[in-house]
Amino acid sequence: MARMTSSARPLLNRRLAEFGTTIFAEMSAHATSTGAINLGQGFPDTDGPEEIREAAVRALRDGRGNQYPPGPGVPELRAAVAAHQERRYGLSYDPDTEVLVTAGATEAIAASLLALLEPGDEVIALEPYYDSYAASIALAGGTRVPVTLRPDEEAAADTPGGVPHRRFRLDLDELRDAVTDRTRLLLLNTPHNPTGTVLTRAELTEIARLAVERDLLVVTDEVYEHLVFDDAEHIPLATLPGMRERTVTIGSAGKTFSFTGWKVGWVTASPDLVTAVRSAKQFLTYVSSGPFQYAVAEALALPDTYFDAFRADMLRKRDLLAAGLTDAGFSVFRPQGTYFVTTDIRPLGESDGFAFCRALAERAGVVAIPNAVFYDHREAGAPFVRFAFCKKVSVLEEAVGRLRKAFAG
Ligand code: PMP
Ligand code: GLN
Repeated sequence: MARMTSSARPLLNRRLAEFGTTIFAEMSAHATSTGAINLGQGFPDTDGPEEIREAAVRALRDGRGNQYPPGPGVPELRAAVAAHQERRYGLSYDPDTEVLVTAGATEAIAASLLALLEPGDEVIALEPYYDSYAASIALAGGTRVPVTLRPDEEAAADTPGGVPHRRFRLDLDELRDAVTDRTRLLLLNTPHNPTGTVLTRAELTEIARLAVERDLLVVTDEVYEHLVFDDAEHIPLATLPGMRERTVTIGSAGKTFSFTGWKVGWVTASPDLVTAVRSAKQFLTYVSSGPFQYAVAEALALPDTYFDAFRADMLRKRDLLAAGLTDAGFSVFRPQGTYFVTTDIRPLGESDGFAFCRALAERAGVVAIPNAVFYDHREAGAPFVRFAFCKKVSVLEEAVGRLRKAFAG
């Protein structure tokens, strides 16, 4: 029987009261019920490499990982994560003490914040931010302090082909001003969901300087590390001076290998930080995804040709969707990374992304995400709408055709 609530006390605790159903679940359900094309939730509609799927089947059949794997993750995967960080970025981590396998990046974020925050600690996050950040900060009893990424006023003609583009930019003075005596931690995300901004070396250098100067910890969500385009470069924050010992870096097989359902993520950090994060993680899931961990170990060792082909495929899709949205009349922020395009709907005569997205399925047969859900300052995000392009070319073509028809006649 359901427990009765007293009228004075709602069931859901006050830390979570402001968080309803995630926008992704809501919009995916909306796509299903209307039959619209789902460019909302960011999951690929094609699975990752066949050989990696087979590796999971093999592990399952061979009885590897069918029982609780070791708490920190299977040794093969921890070794593969360390080897990947070394090979790609020259970052050396000890697989035994400096790598922790998690249930996706989502658990890595939650465990890091639960481990490292005391109630009342302030956490600076770049706004718009991925929705689990706010909930995890709240669960840990922290206070979030958003620093808003702002769109360029003017398009800069600084990209290949000279095509002008606008970027969401971090104001480093604003970031500096946001730090107080109560700030414990910076929560970064690059490449950035939903704007597609990739932080530059100059920006990261300033962030690193600030972290050292104010003795801050940094949790950096780098799940889109392999999805960077044009002349953008993914620079792990941990590679910058003074950062390795104060940075928790988060990665995920969901994004890099197109297996979002496997929920295999990882943390790399100094032994003290990994020990702290593991203390929280062991009481969240303890362990997860046994057989998939073996498969992801093989995936991380794939040759560069895999990563290059993956990026090239997404680049082609980015260009297809960005061009189609532009033709349909949206103002497009061409992403330097991730598999999302943020658009400005004001050229369509619209200004409320929520209302726009609610009506879009009926109006055009396409589902998208209103960026305002990723903001504390909702008005700053009101006219922006996010579309995912990790979908088949035929699906993107159909979506673009529908949007053109609905908005460009
Ligand atoms: N961080 C960001 C920025 C994301 O976009 C996502 C989701 N896709 C996650 C974390 C969660 O990743 P995972 O599915 O591995 O939990
Ligand atoms: N990260 C995905 C996105 O931004 C969604 C993941 C989820 O649904 N939690 O679309």
